[in-house]
Amino acid sequence: MTVRLYNTMSRTVEDFKPIREGEVGMYCCGPTVYNYAHIGNLRTYVFEDLLHRTLVKAGYHVKHVMNITDVGHLTGDGDDGEDKLAKSARENGRSVWDIAAFYTDAFFRDEEALDIIRPDIVCRATDHIQAMIDIIRRLEEKGHTYISGGNVYFSIDTIDDYGKLARLNLDDLKEGARIEVDSNKRNPKDFVLWFTNSKFKDQVMVWPSPWGTGYPGWHIECSAMSSEYLGDHFDIHCGGIDAIPVHHTNEIAQSEAAFGVKPWVDYWCHGEFLLNDKGKMSKSSGEFLTLSVLVDKGYDPLDYRYFCLTGHYRSQLKFSFESLDQARSARQTLVRKIAQYRKECTPAAVLDGKTRGYLDSFYEAMFNDLKAPQALGVLWSMLRDPSLADDQKLAAVLDMDSILGLSLDRVEAVQDEVAVADSEALELLARRSEAKKAKDWAQADEIRDRLSRMGYKVVDTPSGPQLERL
Ligand code: AMP
Ligand code: ZN
Repeated sequence: MTVRLYNTMSRTVEDFKPIREGEVGMYCCGPTVYNYAHIGNLRTYVFEDLLHRTLVKAGYHVKHVMNITDVGHLTGDGDDGEDKLAKSARENGRSVWDIAAFYTDAFFRDEEALDIIRPDIVCRATDHIQAMIDIIRRLEEKGHTYISGGNVYFSIDTIDDYGKLARLNLDDLKEGARIEVDSNKRNPKDFVLWFTNSKFKDQVMVWPSPWGTGYPGWHIECSAMSSEYLGDHFDIHCGGIDAIPVHHTNEIAQSEAAFGVKPWVDYWCHGEFLLNDKGKMSKSSGEFLTLSVLVDKGYDPLDYRYFCLTGHYRSQLKFSFESLDQARSARQTLVRKIAQYRKECTPAAVLDGKTRGYLDSFYEAMFNDLKAPQALGVLWSMLRDPSLADDQKLAAVLDMDSILGLSLDRVEAVQDEVAVADSEALELLARRSEAKKAKDWAQADEIRDRLSRMGYKVVDTPSGPQLERL
């Protein structure tokens, strides 16, 4: 089966054809480690994990590279603002290196909890400064740069297709000139490759360079690290859609100019946003949820992964606790079913025609631009099909889970699962009693509603509240 992917560059779903037969080089922009990842960021990494797993299932050997941004990412996309790491270090009274190490660890804990396969190569920007300097030198030799105000800039007027990924309108770019603040720039969309004489005199992370002591602009790191591990031309580049107009646009401009390849990347794949009530969930707005907040509220991280699977990666997904409850309830039903099958049978070694048909439909959905909601629909239809034997269903669902990543292979005996569900419910019941004691009726009602969505009724008895199965 051919994998089909939506390519942001062509704005169409295309058959995926790798550069080297049977192999895929995939680069994903990683986290900027100045704060915890929020669940919106994590949605993007779940999407990339689905892509990785789907390609593996399709028989490719995948080399997945992800960077860790620990320098150069400023608070403003137009080379304005402060370095995010330096700002976080100052605000927390810690060193930039401590901040980077702390939030990198936190990020990988979240990824593991979400059953995200660790990329084959995880590389830090600060470990690749020389590679960045080398690319800037190549750009300089080819006449794509200028120095102004002490910084090295990429001149977008030296290439003829700047902005092709975002389909930027060059007239709009000129419009932008009026609001541009950096007077060093010849064109408002020029961007910094290397900062030396910057406004941040107290920048801690600095390195010697041919242009003086300083630090790299944000975009150059991804060109340097992708070429180091995947070569100057590779298959897939991923990120969230907010990377399209500036970060990825600038990565393309400098890479194609430096490496002399076009296209530099064959497929551009972008994940849509997770929204909250106010719009895009973002760190800068200060209103964001982390995975540990969900865990503190009694959710399993995989409830959130299941929730992500209920939306197509190219559609916006609105987060609410009601939807998360639904995802949790669906996942728990799934886990209970697997536990039941496990008690009664072992997975069939050979699939019969009908079960194979379901499995094929599941993979058709996933191979066709990662249609996870459709694939989940096939999974449930199969489980509800009374004509299939349980050992067939068990074998097929475990196979499907190699892409879904819901850790279904770790589900064991049925009794354990029921106990897990019950202990969660009992904890909620205890919290409801506390809320009632504190006269927080809204909270108590909310917990009762949640218990009911989990399949429990609260009965107040003389010896205290009890749970009954609905
Ligand atoms: P950052 O750590 O800020 O560099 O972001 C990490 C990744 O999360 C990037 O690929 C962003 O595009 C992506 N991202 C940021 N906000 C959201 C959101 N609300 N929903 C989904 N992805 C997001
Ligand atoms: Zn990047």
